[in-house]
Amino acid sequence: MSLYLEQIRQLVELQHVDDQIFDVKKELSAAPLEVKELTNRFRDEETKLAKIMDKLQHMKEQQKRIDVDLEDETSRLKKSKSKLMQVSNNKEFQAMAREMDNMERNTRTHEEERVTLREEIENQDQALKEVQVICDELKIDLAAKEANLATRIKKANEEFSKLENLRNETGGDVPAPVLARYEFIRRRLDHPVIVPVKESICRGCHIAIPPQTFIELQRGQQIWSCPNCQRLIYWAEHFHDVHQVERKPVKEEITFAEDLNLGESI
Ligand SMILES: [Zn+2]
Repeated sequence: MSLYLEQIRQLVELQHVDDQIFDVKKELSAAPLEVKELTNRFRDEETKLAKIMDKLQHMKEQQKRIDVDLEDETSRLKKSKSKLMQVSNNKEFQAMAREMDNMERNTRTHEEERVTLREEIENQDQALKEVQVICDELKIDLAAKEANLATRIKKANEEFSKLENLRNETGGDVPAPVLARYEFIRRRLDHPVIVPVKESICRGCHIAIPPQTFIELQRGQQIWSCPNCQRLIYWAEHFHDVHQVERKPVKEEITFAEDLNLGESI
């Protein structure tokens, strides 16, 4: 293997370790966020539950009031009916009959209200049951996630220190100026630093590199940077990265640093 290819191999190996570090860091920030998000969802459902319960309580009080009113109206109507029997005067009879008509109308309105209210209470009861189920499920889920969080973080931290050690070893194989170049880009771009060029397209930014740079790249003598995204590039035909998975670059928009020369080799 030529020196050039050996360096590419070392850098790709280092990139692979960095890929894993990147994933572990993602896990370290995602794990608490997942718990937080679930807590928020649980709280939202609890608020919903409390609102329905309030509504139900209010409606049940209303129902009681209507029941009392109805009872009252029915007994008054009954009394009026018996009184009506005793009335001898026609005018008085007419007046009482009108009053009773009014009372009956009121009773009917209250009965209708009672039916509507009963239906609404049934609806809210159903909604309450549904939200309660969601709440119960979320509570179980949340408890499990909370219990698991510490383990997840611990595991990720262990993995992180293992990877840091591995990174020191892997980085130690790379010649200092090349490593410095890699680290320089890593600090600015985060992820990934070195990418293959396939069919003259940089796999970091998905933009075609200029023909002249591509010709130079194919010569395989120097390590080149993509003139667009500044990532280190190599020709995919020169080196096959067994770990290669298309990873979406993290920071697409970058400001070119003054000291990074466009399309320059190391
Ligand atoms: Zn690029």
